[in-house]
Amino acid sequence: MALIVHKYGGTSMGSTERIRNVAKRVAKWARAGHQMVVVPSAMSGETNRLLGLAKELAPAKTDTAYDRELDMLAATGEQASSALLAIALQSEGMESVSYAGWQVPIKTNSAFTKARIESIDDVRVRKDLAAGRVVIVTGFQGMDPDGNITTLGRGGSDTSAVAVAAAMKADECLIYTDVDGVYTTDPRVVPEARRLTTVSFEEMLEMASLGSKVLQIRSVEFAGKYKVPMRVLSSFTPWDIDIHEEAKSGTLITFEEDEKMEQAVVSGIAFNRDEAKISVVGVPDKPGIAYQILGAVADANIEVDMIIQNISKEGKTDFSFTVHRNDFVRTMDLLKEKVVPALGATEVTGDAKICKVSIVGIGMRSHVGIASKMFRSLSEEGINIQMISTSEIKTSVVIDEKYMELAVRALHKAFDLDQA
Ligand code: ADP
Ligand code: ASP
Ligand code: MG
Repeated sequence: MALIVHKYGGTSMGSTERIRNVAKRVAKWARAGHQMVVVPSAMSGETNRLLGLAKELAPAKTDTAYDRELDMLAATGEQASSALLAIALQSEGMESVSYAGWQVPIKTNSAFTKARIESIDDVRVRKDLAAGRVVIVTGFQGMDPDGNITTLGRGGSDTSAVAVAAAMKADECLIYTDVDGVYTTDPRVVPEARRLTTVSFEEMLEMASLGSKVLQIRSVEFAGKYKVPMRVLSSFTPWDIDIHEEAKSGTLITFEEDEKMEQAVVSGIAFNRDEAKISVVGVPDKPGIAYQILGAVADANIEVDMIIQNISKEGKTDFSFTVHRNDFVRTMDLLKEKVVPALGATEVTGDAKICKVSIVGIGMRSHVGIASKMFRSLSEEGINIQMISTSEIKTSVVIDEKYMELAVRALHKAFDLDQA
């Protein structure tokens, strides 16, 4: 008998018919003798619907009182889907009980809309499991030290599931979604994308942080920190497929490099449209400019991703960096009002129509010429590279947003990712 955590995403929970299907699948696992904890997302579209209602009443703002209410509101989506799943399980003849995050409790910090899990008390859940119940725990939410409901950021149910699995030392955490595993790139953009049977934890971490929305990055961080065995698989297979076959399907996240396995140099391609580029032009080139520009940005709690400083010409230089698109206007205003006059820079320019495309692979550690192959492939498509950043196992470029799909497809082909 094993302790297994299942997580079902929004599409998998998208209708009463699909919830019934989830219930039948979970019942199959419970009847096979496993203790089951299930973490559902809200029904697809529900979180957007709820947040949309809030925006109708008051536009988004950076205000703790407002963010608190957004969490109070958004958390209801998972509360509803969890209760519906418990009802569906009961109608399948299983004993089942659902808990909201605060009832477990899942304790978080107070960063509304992007809270971090700090601890999980599993006493209540364990009691139910021991009594033979299937326990449903809402995804995406917790409770802060003052008893307020918090949420974990969009896509946060993945993190809830892995955190519950880590806290309870579950034997496995299965992330059921609307694709049958982790692919070489988003199969909705590149139909030739291939499913990976395994992906290393480090590669998954990079892919998630660089924009592959299949797993929320914090869920991968948790899995790595606590070595949670984790698999991504489809909820759209018939619920009654053989359980052993199901348990081996999808993509396994691995923690050890398999020496014997021939590693692909590049395992995957990630992309995102979430960033915007800002350039401070004509900055006098003297010590402290990076600090003056980025210090002011950091003081405003704005995160910076890529940074480039050009070599100076006649004592002046340009300084460019990227921020999240949601912070674009705020950063531009801050620079125009405070930093540019103080520095004596010429102007500040910005472009929100960019995207970041990245190649990821642990094989890049031991192979040279991978980045140049990437640049050649983009140049053959006539795509101009605006910024570059590299780490041991990834190379990212910033390009014009309109070339995103073209770039991803070209790179997918150039690195033979469509070939088994
Ligand atoms: P869920 O609602 O189950 O959490 P998500 O929409 O958050 O599902 O994540 C699944 C989606 O992630 C897929 O439908 C797919 O379009 C997208 N995706 C992006 N990159 C990848 C990738 N490399 N492999 C698989 N899916 C990916
Ligand atoms: N329902 C939340 C969202 O839409 C959390 C999740 O689905 O993981 O972001
Ligand atoms: Mg998701």
